[in-house]
Amino acid sequence: MTAALVIIVVLIFIATMLAAVMLIAWHSFGRPRHALVWALAFAIATAQWLCNLALRTGHDDSAFLYSATAGLGCLSNALIAVGFVQRNRAPKRVMPLLAAAAISSLLIAASNFIQPQLGIRYSTALGFCGLMMLVSAGNVAASLRQASLPERAVMLMLVLFALIALTLAAVALGQAGAADGGRMLLFRSVLTLLYPIAFTGVGLFSVFLVAADLADNMRMLATSDVLTGVYNRRGFDDGAERAIRNAQRQRQPLSVVVADIDNFKLINDRYGHTVGDRALRHFAGRLERLVRRGDLIGRIGGEEFALLLVNTRAQDALEVVERIRRDIAAMPVDGTSRVVMTASFGVTGLRPGDISLASLLARADRALYRSKLEGRDRVTSADDIEEMA
Ligand code: GH3
Ligand code: MG
Ligand code: MG
Repeated sequence: MTAALVIIVVLIFIATMLAAVMLIAWHSFGRPRHALVWALAFAIATAQWLCNLALRTGHDDSAFLYSATAGLGCLSNALIAVGFVQRNRAPKRVMPLLAAAAISSLLIAASNFIQPQLGIRYSTALGFCGLMMLVSAGNVAASLRQASLPERAVMLMLVLFALIALTLAAVALGQAGAADGGRMLLFRSVLTLLYPIAFTGVGLFSVFLVAADLADNMRMLATSDVLTGVYNRRGFDDGAERAIRNAQRQRQPLSVVVADIDNFKLINDRYGHTVGDRALRHFAGRLERLVRRGDLIGRIGGEEFALLLVNTRAQDALEVVERIRRDIAAMPVDGTSRVVMTASFGVTGLRPGDISLASLLARADRALYRSKLEGRDRVTSADDIEEMA
């Protein structure tokens, strides 16, 4: 058995296992469609390597087997890219990829029947594979800076695989005429050996990506409020505790705000629960618009919200919150023309003795209570009521 045959047999086993693992991942991890596409891609890769084995162990160079191998290879690589495009929620880009795979396989088949030339055959298939891996890498995350650790790992694997496939393609193309010395042979052997490693790496890390996405989804579900989409109590507490520790360590200011919609019971009673829910979504939406990125918004009770404004002194927070108060009182609830609500607010800044969120929330709550007592639709600072006392 030659080294090439050993590598092909190894690839058949790896591709089969990857297809099985991906199918199980699809089934157990919430059935994301791209995992199913990847399972199909690896199953097709198995068929591709089986054809390749038949091609190499057969007696004559079958044009049909060769075309089948190249076509299946292109389809498998295109499907890997399709999976990444689907995960990226860009379905419009799926058809061009499949069309590219079809055209490449046709070209390879045609060139094979017309004039079988080893260099061109290999380089077209490998070049297409490299290109598809680059397309995949480009679709893993919106930008490298926003990519999570699992996404970065997959990107690295895809780029490595692309580099190996493209270098092999260039070598295959250049090899056609060149008198191929021993060094060239060694170079090709090393690349050929790296190919299954890179292929396995892409497969393994893609399975890991499906699992990491599931974990992300679960974390999101556990920490966000179903109705409004902002953090729930647990999500807000976790984020706020972290922000407070950071602020204390870096001696930076930070403010906490508690907001409560005024006479919310009346809105429910007068317009019904559906409008009440819509009012809550509207309120959360306005908060999201009016605070900075990096600030935290949580729904911590029925119609009670909390804000954490990073790097903001209580004095500045008062201005931000006053703007929010005016916005809420002026805008009718989304989807209604005349339902208007107001809200009351309590604001406090981080003090050197604050080691947890609880003390800040308690102070902001006392200030909110004062806002309610004094007639609602107003903002009160915890510093002011303490001064008065
Ligand atoms: P106040 O100005 O003193 O805050 O008066 P309020 O009516 O807003 O306060 P109260 O706490 O008495 O009432 C809050 C109401 O919020 C009661 C509850 O039915 C309603 N509520 C809580 N959660 C939801 C929800 O998810 N959807 C809707 N539609 N209403 C909710
Ligand atoms: Mg209320
Ligand atoms: Mg309340």
